[in-house]
Amino acid sequence: MAKHVFVTGGVVSGLGKGITAASLGRLLKARGLKIAAQKLDPYMNVDPGTMSPYQHGEVFVTEDGSETDLDLGHYERFIDEDLNKFSNLTSGRVYWNVLTKERSGAYLGSTVQIIPHVTGEIKEAIYSLAKKTEADVVITEIGGTTGDIESQPFLEAIRQIGHEVGRTNCLFIHVTLVPFLKSSAEHKSKPTQHSVKELMASGIFPDIIVTRSDEILEESIKDKIALFCNVKRDCVIENRTVPVLYEAPLMLHEEQLDTIVCRELNLTTKEPELGEWEAMLSTIKAAQKHVRIALVGKYIQLHDAYLSVMEALKHASWALGSQVQIDWIDSEQVTEGSVDQLLSQADGILVPGGFGDRGIEGKILAARYAREHKVPYLGICLGMQIAVIEYARSILGYADAHSSEFNPDSQHPVIALMPDQRGNIPKGGTMRLGTYPCVISDNTNMSKAYKGQRIIAERHRHRYEFNNDFRQELIEKGLIISGTSPDGTLVEAVELADNPFFVGVQYHPEFKSRPNRPHPLFSLFIASSLGLTS
Ligand code: GLN
Repeated sequence: MAKHVFVTGGVVSGLGKGITAASLGRLLKARGLKIAAQKLDPYMNVDPGTMSPYQHGEVFVTEDGSETDLDLGHYERFIDEDLNKFSNLTSGRVYWNVLTKERSGAYLGSTVQIIPHVTGEIKEAIYSLAKKTEADVVITEIGGTTGDIESQPFLEAIRQIGHEVGRTNCLFIHVTLVPFLKSSAEHKSKPTQHSVKELMASGIFPDIIVTRSDEILEESIKDKIALFCNVKRDCVIENRTVPVLYEAPLMLHEEQLDTIVCRELNLTTKEPELGEWEAMLSTIKAAQKHVRIALVGKYIQLHDAYLSVMEALKHASWALGSQVQIDWIDSEQVTEGSVDQLLSQADGILVPGGFGDRGIEGKILAARYAREHKVPYLGICLGMQIAVIEYARSILGYADAHSSEFNPDSQHPVIALMPDQRGNIPKGGTMRLGTYPCVISDNTNMSKAYKGQRIIAERHRHRYEFNNDFRQELIEKGLIISGTSPDGTLVEAVELADNPFFVGVQYHPEFKSRPNRPHPLFSLFIASSLGLTS
């Protein structure tokens, strides 16, 4: 039977609960255990797919095409296990399932209630992940902060699971902020005490309290938290802010997190094998070179909107002995007048994914700048579409070339919906999502990046496609189609020959990059940006 670890958060949101959960996953996996991870989000959206990146950061796409919370990206990067549609559940989805069952008569005769029906649906999701994955330990993170109205059914569901599986098979970890007051030069434990009190009112008694702080905590504060929150003294575990995110598992191991979790769950394992992770951190710290990448997007005020892209850039740079500096360029600021000045310092230019027409012209200018100045360019999803639009405008001379997403009246819609997609499509969950195969053409940068592999599989999240009506013309004028769907109908990658690296891909390579296994396309992009390729 699987053991369950539940991670809740208190005091403030954005604490790094996800990093704590992901780090614990890494440590337990390093002890030889099979781990499954899951995030339960109390908001009412059915999935995060329709949410603005400004509100919730990027939407992370899993292999099976689920649009999930960005914390799942942390889980995949830290634990290195592919997640799936069972790994993220929102209140919206829970209610949707319950109401669908109610309409189909599944509860006929009963009054449908939060307890037991909504809580039952939540429990079912947790238990079924354990069953499907046959994991030794299922780590379930509850989004939001203790005390939120929306989280109550989730807390009640995990309380019931604690009761059903018994305390040796279940562990509650509460992650809280311990603020430092400059005026009195001390940490304060009171917010943690209040947060735990709130949790206890839901019937949950935390076994472990993970304290988040920027500085080292005084022992007296830990004593106080243990005493007033009713946990063993060594179950108050310090989680300090670390300069590199990937240090978190090692820091938490030093603080005995995994040892104590195993002790409390009666799990006997070998010592964790952390050699590879430690070697990776040494590489990260030893990286001396410097590479500067201009990321031209429209959600740049919130870096979390491009979290996986940012991490993928770091992974590739570290492996090549360099630290990456990302210049966050607001595409609305990129104009004919400003483009040279904004991009002249960049070693490479990246245009990431996006939706809606705000800032589109700035992105097109950035692609033109990269092409004309032969600066390495990586276009991801919208970034590939932008590259095609720019080429059609500048080289084919179609001044109104566009994507029909942004200009439905363009006479030259080089990016458009496929014929079978046209019609009134609802916004949620209707895109090309998840993994699709792509066949790579020989003698291209794509083939060089993927080391000659002919068929690859990458994750998608988009609605519009390269329009085949313009394919021949674009090819004749020099655009290289370097990746297509196996039947040749969908263009998955384009590139230019007379640039060291100018590649646009319709998919999102960033989702598959790992700190210890950088994505090959990012690696070649960074290598070109560093001038390491011939
Ligand atoms: N908006 C574009 C589309 O739907 C690109 C999407 C993306 O970049 N993820 O096709």
